[in-house]
Amino acid sequence: MVKSERRILLGLVIMLGLLMICPPLWASQFFNVEKVADGVYAAIGKPGVASNGAFIVTDDGVVVVDTHFRPSWARDLITEIKKTTDQPVRYVINTHWHNDHTQGNQAYAEAFPKYVEFISSHNTRDDIIRLAIPSVKQSLEQDVPNAIQRLQGFLDSGKGPDGAALSGDRRAQIQTQLESQKSYLEELKHMTITVPNMTFDRSLILHKKDKEIRILYFGKGHTRGDVVVYLPKEKVLISGDLLIGGTPFMRDAYPFEWAPTLEQIGGLDFAKVIPGHGPVEDGKNQLQLELRYLKDLVSTVQAQFDGGKTPSLDDVKKTAAAQLVAKYEKDYGPNFKTAVLGNIERTYAEAKGDLKDPH
Ligand SMILES: [Zn+2]
Repeated sequence: MVKSERRILLGLVIMLGLLMICPPLWASQFFNVEKVADGVYAAIGKPGVASNGAFIVTDDGVVVVDTHFRPSWARDLITEIKKTTDQPVRYVINTHWHNDHTQGNQAYAEAFPKYVEFISSHNTRDDIIRLAIPSVKQSLEQDVPNAIQRLQGFLDSGKGPDGAALSGDRRAQIQTQLESQKSYLEELKHMTITVPNMTFDRSLILHKKDKEIRILYFGKGHTRGDVVVYLPKEKVLISGDLLIGGTPFMRDAYPFEWAPTLEQIGGLDFAKVIPGHGPVEDGKNQLQLELRYLKDLVSTVQAQFDGGKTPSLDDVKKTAAAQLVAKYEKDYGPNFKTAVLGNIERTYAEAKGDLKDPH
């Protein structure tokens, strides 16, 4: 064997060895699973699944964070968890009430009926009952059947939403969307979001022999109930949608409170973030960017109210969007132009005093 061949062979042996010792990444049907620390795994949703979750293997059961949009996707992740450990899932934590983080709860209740407890903040439990569960009914009875009818209409008429004839590619795309909506409708027929049975105010800590898992509420932000999960020894933060890999989503948010909440999270000592959406992040750069943006968003909108004025939403949108796009489009990408408008609208509503707590 010549020297170069020997070197290649040695390289292969080392690579294989590394792969066997620490498989850092593998894929299931719906997720890329990434080991971010000892016993800590990110489940990054593939395109179409979009939202992320995580699971933590302890000496005494598995802790799952967020359960995705469909029970079938949660079941896919349960299969992956079972490949990693023979421990049962003991706890499921919902970071917030949004459907893409809670609709898979029932899959865990069904798979681990004797073991599993569901944990959230008080506010998230209330909002699952008040908002998430009624929205399942709305999707089942109206939204999804309407979407199916609309998509079927495009295929039947051979024309898209813009009235133009469908190309072969476009037809195939619509067909895929239609199949996806039909299978979702089947899941909705059997969907009952399992409501958290353990809730807390500020913090709940799971003290395991080999791990400390802190579940922390710092205040309102993306919703009024978001928690983060923090592992101090592993320096991992599981951030839910308080910190994501793109423009913050604000439909149910409290923009004025979000930055102070995120600032406290920034005080934690972490090296890796598993966000609610987007890839695993290293360090605090994404958090610093989001913090700058949230502060700028609030101060730019608030400035329009200076001197006791109440400006129109349209005027605020124009002025604030121009300033914010100039500053943040390069970081948040081409969708920012549209996403920022929803954020300005929500911030305007809070500046005017229109965001009322439900209780
Ligand atoms: Zn969310």
